[in-house]
Amino acid sequence: MHHKIFDVVIVGAGISGSFLAKELCQAGLSVLCLEAGKNFNRHNYPKKEIDANSQLYWGGGIELNTTADIGILRPKVVGGGSVVNQALLDRFDDIALDSWKNKSKIDWMSTTQMEPWYKSALEEVKVEEIPTEFRNGNADIFIKGFEANGFKCAPLKRAQNNCAYEKGSDCIECLSGCIRDSKQSMGVTVLPKALNSGLELVSEFEAEKIEKVSGHIRVHGTDKFGDKRIFRSKKLVLAAGAIGNSKLLLQSQFKNNNIGKGFYTHPQFMSLGLYEHEIHSEKGPFQAMKSDDPDFRVRSFKLENVFGPPVAVGMLLPGIASKHLSYMKRITHMACVEVAIRDQNPGTISLARNGRLKIVKTLDERDQTTFNNGLSAIHDIFNSTGVKEIVDGNFKIGLHLMGGLAIGKDSNSSVVNENFSLHEDPDIFAADSSIFPDAPGINPSLTIMALAKKAASSIKESIL
Ligand SMILES: Cc1cc2nc3c(=O)[nH]c(=O)nc-3n(C[C@H](O)[C@H](O)[C@H](O)COP(=O)(O)OP(=O)(O)OC[C@H]3O[C@@H](n4cnc5c(N)ncnc54)[C@H](O)[C@@H]3O)c2cc1C
Repeated sequence: MHHKIFDVVIVGAGISGSFLAKELCQAGLSVLCLEAGKNFNRHNYPKKEIDANSQLYWGGGIELNTTADIGILRPKVVGGGSVVNQALLDRFDDIALDSWKNKSKIDWMSTTQMEPWYKSALEEVKVEEIPTEFRNGNADIFIKGFEANGFKCAPLKRAQNNCAYEKGSDCIECLSGCIRDSKQSMGVTVLPKALNSGLELVSEFEAEKIEKVSGHIRVHGTDKFGDKRIFRSKKLVLAAGAIGNSKLLLQSQFKNNNIGKGFYTHPQFMSLGLYEHEIHSEKGPFQAMKSDDPDFRVRSFKLENVFGPPVAVGMLLPGIASKHLSYMKRITHMACVEVAIRDQNPGTISLARNGRLKIVKTLDERDQTTFNNGLSAIHDIFNSTGVKEIVDGNFKIGLHLMGGLAIGKDSNSSVVNENFSLHEDPDIFAADSSIFPDAPGINPSLTIMALAKKAASSIKESIL
């Protein structure tokens, strides 16, 4: 057992954990952050796509729901999702926050009351739009297709600081960690500030169980040498993401029946358009535009201007052997648009009898209809821009993992209360993607940062 009793132990050094670590350390608290993943930096991120998948994600790259039709991408690295994500930052709108307020009955869930927290979060990261002159061939197709169909699109806002496009930088590389520290991941933004203010960070430590003994919280787990260790604290912050938090509480036999329920993923589906001429979606900034169409928002889907590196694209393409190869040979001729839906049908995270994770997540009729509407808009975009063939991807991906510890006033329908502590234990807090009461249909990171800022003030109040 570690000798020291920390004021706060944080499990997970992803977006929420890192933001909270910075706020709590700067308030003078002694804080330890435990992270299951490795601590990479721009000099040693895995270079090959296959190595990056296996070293930066749980499950060797991908996990699956029980019906094996949604590939779940769950980051496992110091910095969490901020290392591998596309760094798109958006505020939630009235549609998202009204729905949260309605479910949780919490009054501060409104665009006005969240604004100071969004503002404070945005002071920690630099945000840029991709300059028009550097938009790539994939963005051109996206914009032309939107214009031709009367859909509205807009430039994306990315947490980045000088990607050096003028030097020919192909930013698709940043999906495996940004080699130029342009992407505003936690390791280049809030974590250094936390470490300078005394944060102790232990990477490659997986927390497996939490318990309360003599008024203190004990976190049990295994370190990188396979040794069992125990850390103690007065307060605990769960920042292990939707799946990580649910798993830890279930393993620790917490009683609230809502743990693991209300799991959402914004299921996404990539479609490829094959063109006669070269598009070179892999060159330059790979994601410059998003749909900004009020009608899409009301119909609960959005379209994004994405692409993937070769292994990812290969997984989306049909056929084996020569058929598959004939598609891969045309990779430079492919444009790609993705539909992401605001899923209505919640899934569940539970433990199977052998203790392994069990993720049940399906699309019901409403979700399937939303999906089909988005897909049909993508086909319209490709067909109006001279596509030769459309290949709809093989399966869906879930990478906005949300819920499992829903926030709300009523302990009969939620896990976390409005002050971010568990209904079941006032010394255990959570403010990350796990507390989302439903799927907002908007990129979650900026709101996770804002919620961490707000939660830090609650946690400080409970200690100081
Ligand atoms: C490929 C990809 C692209 C994305 N693009 C965007 C985007 O453009 N914009 C956007 O807003 N969102 C995006 N997201 C989603 C976004 O990154 C996540 O919503 C966000 O990172 C969640 O933050 P979090 O703090 O809840 O969890 P995370 O950032 O996932 O951090 C959780 C951390 O906890 C650690 N952990 C889990 N269990 C344990 C344990 N038992 N012990 C110790 N540590 C543990 C994990 O290893 C992880 O590092 C993307 C995600 C992916 C995968």
